[in-house]
Amino acid sequence: MAGIYIHYPFCKSRCYYCDFYTITDARLQEPFYKALLFEINLRKDFLKNETIETIYLGGGTPSLLEPAKINEVLDAIHKNFNVSDFPEITIEVNPDDISRYYVKQLAKTQINRVSLGIQAFYNYHLQLMNRRHKVYGALKAVEALQNEGYDNISIDLIYGLPEMTKAEWEKTLNKAVQMNIQHISAYHLTYEENTVFDKLKKSGLLTPPDEEVSHWQFSRMAEFFESNDFIHYEISNFGKLGRFSKHNVNYWQNKPYLGLGPAAHSFDGSYRYWNMPDISKYLRIERKHDDIREQEKLTTKDQFNEYLMTGLRTYWGIDTEYIVNHFSDKHLSQLKENLEKYLKSGHVQSKDNKYYLTRNGMFISDKITSDLFI
Ligand code: SF4
Repeated sequence: MAGIYIHYPFCKSRCYYCDFYTITDARLQEPFYKALLFEINLRKDFLKNETIETIYLGGGTPSLLEPAKINEVLDAIHKNFNVSDFPEITIEVNPDDISRYYVKQLAKTQINRVSLGIQAFYNYHLQLMNRRHKVYGALKAVEALQNEGYDNISIDLIYGLPEMTKAEWEKTLNKAVQMNIQHISAYHLTYEENTVFDKLKKSGLLTPPDEEVSHWQFSRMAEFFESNDFIHYEISNFGKLGRFSKHNVNYWQNKPYLGLGPAAHSFDGSYRYWNMPDISKYLRIERKHDDIREQEKLTTKDQFNEYLMTGLRTYWGIDTEYIVNHFSDKHLSQLKENLEKYLKSGHVQSKDNKYYLTRNGMFISDKITSDLFI
């Protein structure tokens, strides 16, 4: 079981919190498209003995790619890889790109899952983040997708916005579940280096909420979505039964994947590879081939730490038997020793030889996992 990720790096404008590798020069879209088709063919042996169960078009804004071209990309993947009969094929879309005409065209492609970057249900929150869509457009986009028969729709939300009130967050949660969608990804706003938000924060023009407020927003969200039939299967992800993101679950379960496009990462079980975040280099792929990619072999220590980090994020937790079989008794005893204080404080719980983060533990997951690293 394996997945393919395509990084479509173009965006019409940049959101103030975003540090993904993105490009706003639309003139490069056509040359990028040709380079992408070339890379699909170039990497055809990367997942040679694997069946591709998931394909994910992310970015950037892959909804800037016209549906006919999306199909050509997917056809090229089918031609070069062993794709299962019913793969999950997701596209990330900006609500602003979703007209009824676009959705009708999209429905003719093999895309069967749509992830919308809705982010907020107040126009002033969207404006604050420099999102280009409005709330009304997002509601209409979901409606158009549902009218066309899409029944695997995910939305993204952002919490921890400066000065967001309790009432605003409550209303946001209510609006989200009223949309009758199947999946929600919700992330706390982070201030990544060199983003506009980071600069505003450093100059004192923007103040993040207190930890207590963020904690309340996270806990309230988890409680509310769970009471509305969403399963909290990963720290930031909630899905209806049978509607988890298979693609992301593959990442968290350390399955192999191939990343295509600039800044995309790949993993084959032993090595990590990453295409450099450089469109000029990427466009030279036909001449330079692997000059665009770097790699690193994962040590046992890397693999163990990664297992802890990804496993603890999910409701499947970390498995002591897996640790003994894939690492060693020594790794397990070290882990047990490091976990003791978090078991006592109630941030971690243990059941059937597995360890899981509790809801309070999820809120400080970065601290816990870094404490557990060897
Ligand atoms: S649309 Fe998405 S990828 Fe593009 S700048 Fe905004 S958050 Fe980043």
